[in-house]
Amino acid sequence: MHKIDNFIDGQRQAPVSGHYLDNVEPATGQVYSQVASSDADDVDRAVAAATAAAPGWYELGATGRAACMRRLAALVTAHADALAQAESKDNGKPLWLASEVDIPRVASNLEFFADAATQFASECHPMTHGINYTLREPLGVVGCISPWNLPLYLMTWKIAPALAAGNTVVAKPSEVTPATASLLAELTVEAGWPPGVLNLVHGSGPKAGASLVDHPGIKAVSFTGGTATGKAIASAMAPTFRKVSLELGGKNPTVVFDDCDFEQTVDQVARAAFSNQGQICLCGSRILVQQSIYERFKKALVERVAALRVGDPTESTSQQGALVSAAHRDKVLVAIDTARAEGGQVLCGGHPVEVSGRCSEGYFVAPTLIEGLDMYCATAQEEIFGPVATLHAFADETEAVQLANATRYGLAASVWSNDVHRCHRVAKNLQCGIVWVNCWMVRDLRTPFGGTKASGLGREGGLEAMRFFTEPKNVCIDVGL
Ligand code: NAD
Repeated sequence: MHKIDNFIDGQRQAPVSGHYLDNVEPATGQVYSQVASSDADDVDRAVAAATAAAPGWYELGATGRAACMRRLAALVTAHADALAQAESKDNGKPLWLASEVDIPRVASNLEFFADAATQFASECHPMTHGINYTLREPLGVVGCISPWNLPLYLMTWKIAPALAAGNTVVAKPSEVTPATASLLAELTVEAGWPPGVLNLVHGSGPKAGASLVDHPGIKAVSFTGGTATGKAIASAMAPTFRKVSLELGGKNPTVVFDDCDFEQTVDQVARAAFSNQGQICLCGSRILVQQSIYERFKKALVERVAALRVGDPTESTSQQGALVSAAHRDKVLVAIDTARAEGGQVLCGGHPVEVSGRCSEGYFVAPTLIEGLDMYCATAQEEIFGPVATLHAFADETEAVQLANATRYGLAASVWSNDVHRCHRVAKNLQCGIVWVNCWMVRDLRTPFGGTKASGLGREGGLEAMRFFTEPKNVCIDVGL
């Protein structure tokens, strides 16, 4: 069976322990490869390789690093079909989605931060009798830990700015979706990257991930994943005062006012709730609809969602693929049972889906809409991270904002209305890091990306990411006047 090994110092390396984990194709439920189960010994090797590579990578300068990153972006585009197939097989997402969204965004992450490397500048603060300038030096070796939902897209969202800023990287992809990270690492060889600049250590969170976080050679950790994991990582980093960036969970509100463009809003609200089977941190899983259009909107939304075709991710007609694992499928089904026990009425979905043929053992769940729940019940408060959204009515703008903010999370929100004044007011009053108005998941890589409250700490994207991965040092010079 194919083995996915670590990638250290420019080459594949088997885990020191010789242990591997099974890697399952979610659409079929079959083990199709094995992934290295790494521990502290493998992390030691990866950090040593990254440490040795750091001076050379820095000395390449911004232009040299940018050239390496552009060559890798071009190879990603050249191998886009193979990468999309690998991502879809590993994750269960529809192949068309991996082809249209995930992999193109990998290439654009690399290209964007190649440009950022050459454009990044630091500040100068002149005084009457002196001048301050701020140096921004790379941190050294940094750790990048990423989740399974957008595997290569989110991993490159971290490693690209880290490398552009002149750091070397040890990355730990999710053990559930390790395949495309390894393909990318192999492409760095073809792209002529120096060995040790990008290293991958595969394996479980508690073993490989925690060893990476605990390693004193790791100067900062950029993490995307669940809130509980983020808390553990922040606690582990705090005693040694190392930098941490946390992109965590969400329970995002979609706020629909009665003056929205009705048909377009129904389509986009369905997309926001169920893209990637609802497994995007930005998905709008709490749909708040103004009372005056609630029944009409509900009817139209249920029609759209019930018509979503769940099926084999390799078929272009499948709008929804498989959930990422049996454990996650079970967690989602338990959450639906909890919603029923809390008095929720399931409007559509609410059950597993059997897909015939090669996918008969896959982890499919019907897209599910639930109404009749209090905003403070577990279903409306806990992140489900699957194809489940709840519907709630509100009377007016004040109540909309109050319900939208009634969560410990604060990642993203979307607002749907044609009243421009109201859109600005509501956007200002929402407690979250990202607000989309009459759109969802429109991406501009220059903007700050991240959440407030239990959704995280710090921001990714554009200059925010370049600043995170550098250490500022102010130099003050007396000009002798
Ligand atoms: P997770 O927290 O279980 O795992 C994320 C990564 O952390 C994996 O690589 C895992 O192996 C590793 N990990 C787990 N325990 C660790 C530990 N103790 N020390 C170090 N590393 C550890 O999350 P997941 O299930 O892979 O992803 C789903 C979660 O990610 C959801 O909560 C979702 O909202 C969140 N997410 C957030 C964003 C964002 O940008 N805010 C984006 C995508 C996903």
